[in-house]
Amino acid sequence: MLFDFKLSTPDEGLVDITNEVSEAVMESGVLEGLCVVFCPHTTAAITINENTDPDVKSDFVLGMDQSFPDLNAFRHAEGNSDAHIKSSTIGASETIIISGGKLLLGTWQNIYFCEFDGPRTRKFYVKVMGG
Ligand code: ZN
Repeated sequence: MLFDFKLSTPDEGLVDITNEVSEAVMESGVLEGLCVVFCPHTTAAITINENTDPDVKSDFVLGMDQSFPDLNAFRHAEGNSDAHIKSSTIGASETIIISGGKLLLGTWQNIYFCEFDGPRTRKFYVKVMGG
């Protein structure tokens, strides 16, 4: 089953989409299987990270900015090459195991949509497979 979602994003940062993905799994009725969360954008990404200390999210943004700065030498006319590099580095999707009808996430794990060139209206897909 395929589900699609829209979201409004900040300038840059992580948006928690765990509830949306969990609801898609529940609605699918799949008890044992796999769930793919996919981002169809080239300046955003999907990741799994800590769900407790909000400083992790802001440190993530700071670390990405430090690791992939917006360089004057970049030639891409749109001016967002740093966001394209961050998108490919983090990746467009995550695959999560479904067990007992639930996402098999660790205690400290949530699923995040990563915005690197916002604010924008974005979308993501959730594909649920199994039985
Ligand atoms: Zn671009």
